[in-house]
Amino acid sequence: MTCLNAELPGICLIAGMRNIAARGTHALRGLLRACAVLSLVLVRPAGAADLSAASVFFASSGNATVEQPQGSPPAAAVRGPDGKLLGYAFSTYDVSGSVGYAGRPLDIVAGITTEGIIAGAQIVAHEEPILVIGIPKDALAAYVKGFAGFDTRVGATLKPAEDLARGPHAVAGATITSTVIRDAILRSARAVLRSRSATMDTAMRLDRETLRRSAWHMLLAEGALQRKLVTRGEAAKMLGTQDSEPEKPFIDLWLALATPPPIGESLLGQRTYESELARIGPDDDLILIGASGLYSFKGTEWRQSGTFGRIELVQGGRTFRLKGIDHTPVEALRAAGAPELREIAVFRVARASGFDSTKPFRLDLDLGTPSTGSGPAVVSLDYRVPERYLIAPPAPPAAVSAGTSQTASAANPTLWQDIWWARRFDIAVLVTMLVVLAGILVFQDTVTAHGKFYYRLRTGYLLLTLIFLGFIANAQLSVVNVLTFIHALLSGFRWELFLLDPLVFLLWSFVAVSMLFWGRGVFCGWLCPFGTLQELTNQLARRLGIKQIEIPFGLHERLWMIKYVVFVGILALSLRSILTAFQAAEIEPFKTAITMKFLREWPFVIYAGALLLAGLFVERFYCRYLCPLGAALAIPARMRMFEWLKRYRECGSECHVCARRCTVQAIHPLGQINPNECIYCLKCQANYFDHEICLHLKKRAQRRQPMLPPKPAAGPGARP
Ligand code: SF4
Ligand code: SF4
Repeated sequence: MTCLNAELPGICLIAGMRNIAARGTHALRGLLRACAVLSLVLVRPAGAADLSAASVFFASSGNATVEQPQGSPPAAAVRGPDGKLLGYAFSTYDVSGSVGYAGRPLDIVAGITTEGIIAGAQIVAHEEPILVIGIPKDALAAYVKGFAGFDTRVGATLKPAEDLARGPHAVAGATITSTVIRDAILRSARAVLRSRSATMDTAMRLDRETLRRSAWHMLLAEGALQRKLVTRGEAAKMLGTQDSEPEKPFIDLWLALATPPPIGESLLGQRTYESELARIGPDDDLILIGASGLYSFKGTEWRQSGTFGRIELVQGGRTFRLKGIDHTPVEALRAAGAPELREIAVFRVARASGFDSTKPFRLDLDLGTPSTGSGPAVVSLDYRVPERYLIAPPAPPAAVSAGTSQTASAANPTLWQDIWWARRFDIAVLVTMLVVLAGILVFQDTVTAHGKFYYRLRTGYLLLTLIFLGFIANAQLSVVNVLTFIHALLSGFRWELFLLDPLVFLLWSFVAVSMLFWGRGVFCGWLCPFGTLQELTNQLARRLGIKQIEIPFGLHERLWMIKYVVFVGILALSLRSILTAFQAAEIEPFKTAITMKFLREWPFVIYAGALLLAGLFVERFYCRYLCPLGAALAIPARMRMFEWLKRYRECGSECHVCARRCTVQAIHPLGQINPNECIYCLKCQANYFDHEICLHLKKRAQRRQPMLPPKPAAGPGARP
């Protein structure tokens, strides 16, 4: 571009920058198109996995032979020395098209016995970012190996990674990758077993694995709790007696199948529920009965007979008597919003008795013998466990096809929901933070017009971002997320993989929306823990009197291009090898300073420390010149629709206060704010409303000052 206005080189420079950025956007589009083509080539690992390694998984049965893979989904039969079929070996990539969190192929060779037990598993290919950086390979290998002995036919759903009651514990710091691996192994194993076995389950099963706490009203709404209220009037009628207070409850009876964790644990509390679970077999059930009112469903006769005479379960044509030794009195219900009941007990019902909790049943309560002498007066409470607590039988083999890439969520719709539930506290705090931030941004004039309030609010918010988002929740966005997202778009986007990390998902959603309104700065200015760390340490340095280095604007605007080059370089690298790109992303000190809290090898610590040190003299040094994430956010942020930051005509001509005070020197000496560099800290807006600082306001105040009467001139006779 040729600059035609020699008097205003700054304006030409800005126009030039815009031109460069526009070209950059075009270049990026071209790059993405190239990615799309390349990804078709790169996404699939070369050749089918070698399954022969699976023979060691069956070593306990002697020298096992792995045959050639065949069938649909592809799996190799594994036979013992006598030719007996021991199980099957398979590759998770070949069976279920498993991809990792990064959207790249993830391949695990595993074996499953004919009884549905995982015989062994070994990871053979992955490109997971978290594991490339900082987490030892052995940890992942041990995690995958830990699946040996896992019974795939018991649980159909996966538990949150931090609560793996069955199977190995997730690799610390790689929760999502662990979850994805777990899903790949179990989903593929079940697909292989279903397709090879004609004798698999054909009946509904109770989901005994999924964890989710529910409040009383939720259990009631979904039908997990059933109620029968018998008034004293109704009871008197059935018993042929009179009652002076017919409206009052005779018995208010409640019934629930407490076996599924969301029902049992919610109602009984974790400790009672787990102690009851420990007392039953894997297929037995827990039934919870509670009541308030005049009448006791237990009565006292059971103390002599050992069997409860007033209550019984009825299913089909069978009756199940409840015994004293099979019950535990419960003091109170633990579900939020549960009423206080006079009498509560949990009953253990054995599967061997013929009771099938997946089928409807009823509780019969004997109110006593009517005075007329006819048969007992009985009220019934019907119960059917809601469908959400049931697991459908496996699809017939024909329905399972090779490479059916059922996603984690399609196969198991509760996986990400469980993770969101487990992190509900973190989510609640983050959502509150985002709502507050949206409020600050929408009402920015009001907030910044009250200077002291704004500065305190901002410091408080930054501290929360650093401590909660950064150190506690580890929710630091990174350029790795950007690469992951781009590669996921190219190789088959899967919402459920992004939903596995709720805080990162919420942050990205907020950032995406806020970019349309306020540009890239909202994340950098308020939600980036490392950015916050730099700003807070710089504030401290200023208070301690450390002199700041002012970078000449001409040099400054050349230096800020570095970060764009870094980002494009990392993106280009990712096309060749995403692993190398993830390693190059170590230019970000986030993992060292925030996720690992400086507990890392010393070169990483020195690097992060050096950046923070530089930030003591040049505020947000890393953000200004090096951050590839900041650059990645600045490119799409050009789509922003509104201009919210206010300027006076004096800005940049007569006054340069805001430009000098800007956190990242995003204001040109001529007064224009560069939206690509602005981190939306709103400091310049606080100056804009500050009568002590802003030249425009000072001039206006002067103009409004009343003219003072001229002093009388000293004349003859005037007093000295
Ligand atoms: S520029 Fe980078 S380090 Fe700075 S706030 Fe933005 S994302 Fe964080
Ligand atoms: S002071 Fe103003 S221009 Fe500078 S970063 Fe903050 S909001 Fe942007």
